[in-house]
Amino acid sequence: MNKATLVKIAPVEQQNKILRAIERFDFAMKVIRKEYLRKHSDPWVVAYSGGKDSTLLLQLIWEMLLSLPEHNRQRKVYVIGNDTLVESPLVIRHLRDTISTIAYAAAAAGLPIKTQITKPHIDQTFWVNVIGRGYIPPTRNFRWCTDRMKIVPTSQLLKRLISIHKRTILLVGTRKSESVNRRRNMSKHGVSGVKMNPHSSVDGCRMFAPLAEFEDDDVWVLLLQRKPPWGGAHRNLITLYRNAGGGECPLVLTKDDAPSCGTTSPRFGCWTCTVISKDRSLRGLIDSGHEDAKNFSRLFNFREWLIELREENSNRENVRRDGNSRYRTDGTLIMGPFKLEVRRKILKRLQELEQEIGQRLISTSELDVIKDIWHRDRVREDCRDALSATVTRETDEILT
Ligand code: SF4
Repeated sequence: MNKATLVKIAPVEQQNKILRAIERFDFAMKVIRKEYLRKHSDPWVVAYSGGKDSTLLLQLIWEMLLSLPEHNRQRKVYVIGNDTLVESPLVIRHLRDTISTIAYAAAAAGLPIKTQITKPHIDQTFWVNVIGRGYIPPTRNFRWCTDRMKIVPTSQLLKRLISIHKRTILLVGTRKSESVNRRRNMSKHGVSGVKMNPHSSVDGCRMFAPLAEFEDDDVWVLLLQRKPPWGGAHRNLITLYRNAGGGECPLVLTKDDAPSCGTTSPRFGCWTCTVISKDRSLRGLIDSGHEDAKNFSRLFNFREWLIELREENSNRENVRRDGNSRYRTDGTLIMGPFKLEVRRKILKRLQELEQEIGQRLISTSELDVIKDIWHRDRVREDCRDALSATVTRETDEILT
């Protein structure tokens, strides 16, 4: 639908909103076109979460590339998503589907776009850390997951690209109006829609946020107005938001972004996320009467159970994984990881859950790594027990 038709059919009070959104889109298009046509070959990396902001960003980039004559489409554009391996089921389905559609459509259109989904290292997945090492499900103060499952896999890919191309430019869909924290962070680092900034932890990478000044309404108006150039419709995405009731867990690329991971509420993120107190996104899908509501409800209950396990001290060791005790400043003991029998219980229940919902939730490779960690933990525990028995015996001998 063109601009004139849209404006004509919209109620008067909507017209300014639509015009403003289109103006912002056109301006952002000019800015990114100018950057793309610069005389260097630094590839672009587009952080794509499948959410509304990164979808609009990709739409902007795609339309800009299509507007160029073929001989000017020289610089490569990598579209990268991230799968923590515990993503909310509908979100990961949407991400995988769109990433493969994008790859196919880009090749068909002759665009220099390549796609990739990053994943955590097998030794650092959610289940390997919780069931294997006994890490408690993450909290706001002990959020071990974001770095291991999101930042590291994506940073490694950026570093690989930099080792090939020397430098790279990362385009993100972050916007100042997402939250007060986001605005503060973007302002602190001078991130804007017209200027590039160095990435805070990856040398050779510069960041660029073309949608920095866009409001929520701009994003929705534009998505409703335009069809994805890679095919299909934005309808799936819009339904996903409507059913889940809200925001998104972005592709987290730097430690500055990490605080928003798992705390924007309601949002799409890991279905196991225990950083938030209630998973309103899964709850939203259940309450909306989704056809998979029964299974979502089982996942929801499992997550609640993980929180209960975490809050019960008797489930946890008195010492940390290195065998040492740690205390707070007030002298109270900081509890250690889950006991081995609790980790076994979690695995058993997770496998029962897999049977109930008819879907794999943990891979065989993760199970292998977990068994290996358990074996080493048992050996370590045996050694500690033997050591403490020797010390007791020697002390007894001295005292008697
Ligand atoms: S969504 Fe939650 S569990 Fe997943 S990485 Fe973010 S904070 Fe961690």
